[in-house]
Amino acid sequence: MIIGLLKDTLPERRVALLPTNVKHLVDRKTTILVETGAGAEAFADDSAYSEAGARVVQRNEVLEQANLLVQVAEPDVSLLDQLQPEQIWLSEYKPLWHISLVKKFADLKLTSFSMDTIPRTTRAQAMDVLSSQATVAGYKAVLDAAIHLPSFFPMFMSAAGTIRPANVLVLGAGVAGLQAIAVARRMGAQVAAFDVRSAVKEEVMSLGARFVEVEGAKEDDAAGGYAVEQTEEYKKRQQEAINQHAAKANVVICTAQIPGRKAPLLISKEVVADMQPGSVIIDLASSTGGNCELSEDNKTVVKHGVTIIGQSNYPTQMPKDASKMFGTNVSNFLELLIDDEGNLHLDFNNEIVRGTCITHQGEIYNERVKSVTA
Ligand code: NAD
Repeated sequence: MIIGLLKDTLPERRVALLPTNVKHLVDRKTTILVETGAGAEAFADDSAYSEAGARVVQRNEVLEQANLLVQVAEPDVSLLDQLQPEQIWLSEYKPLWHISLVKKFADLKLTSFSMDTIPRTTRAQAMDVLSSQATVAGYKAVLDAAIHLPSFFPMFMSAAGTIRPANVLVLGAGVAGLQAIAVARRMGAQVAAFDVRSAVKEEVMSLGARFVEVEGAKEDDAAGGYAVEQTEEYKKRQQEAINQHAAKANVVICTAQIPGRKAPLLISKEVVADMQPGSVIIDLASSTGGNCELSEDNKTVVKHGVTIIGQSNYPTQMPKDASKMFGTNVSNFLELLIDDEGNLHLDFNNEIVRGTCITHQGEIYNERVKSVTA
């Protein structure tokens, strides 16, 4: 099998495979073509790919010869016309948010896989880009907040007076939220966190944060551990609890998401107006509507003296280690598609291959994506 590694389009700076991953795949008897400059933004130059056993070539050659094309994010529209029906596409292309792209892949009779639909099972953990990239996002969100906050995170007692530690409120305690809690605690902040899933309470507390309790959340075992839409009554109580904590917070890190749905609105514009001037809100959910009513995706705005940063792609700001994790996830997934002789082997009996496939033989294959397009 020939695997073609494409260069993503800026502002995406990550690369889907680093030279170390390429070496591993070459050892598995595959041929790797790398588009020239593919890893440049992630500090992996062409010579490192060549040394790892890849052939570094122009984009056209990759597109013409590869059986499987891989990159980090969704393809540019201009690329779609150059894809061939028998090719396989692999990236994190967020099919639930890019339905027209899914339809285009189906029309083109391309088999496509999207890394963000990998089942969240123990077996698939080593391929789980949502977790690895959320780890980066939670970490970087706290650093960004600290840079924009006009105060310290840790407590200081000095001859020049006592500085109180910053109050950080984390909304949503999934992978990104838990990482944000851990980093904010290490930086000396006092942290409170809220999530609709009561199962995370112990994890939050074990990281040294307080868990904001709101009774009566709806949980659904069938949701695979994900949050589900809540009742109006619960949302009202939740809102009151969040409002109280937000008013005291210097930093609010918003990470609450519901897969395939608009992000829950947790910080209204009235709550922002009640916050202390100089406070910072980081909204990791900004690309799916945002947890804060005033956040704007990919923008930093100041409202009522509060800095609001809408940023759903922190991993691209840390391309080296984010690519290291992403590349390992991709390489582990590719192993499932390769037989002992390095040939393509699509085994749809494998639940991970099945769960990650979005289009196949001109049809939308993934049931969840199909239900959204119906
Ligand atoms: P996510 O990015 O989908 O959402 C982030 C958090 O927001 C979640 O904890 C969610 O409960 C929370 N949330 C949603 N609506 C909310 C609301 N109205 N108010 C407050 N919080 C709200 O989550 P994720 O980090 O991708 O994790 C999702 C699930 O997958 C979790 O159960 C996690 O433990 C599980 N998971 C499993 C594996 C594995 O076994 N391989 C790996 C990673 C995560």
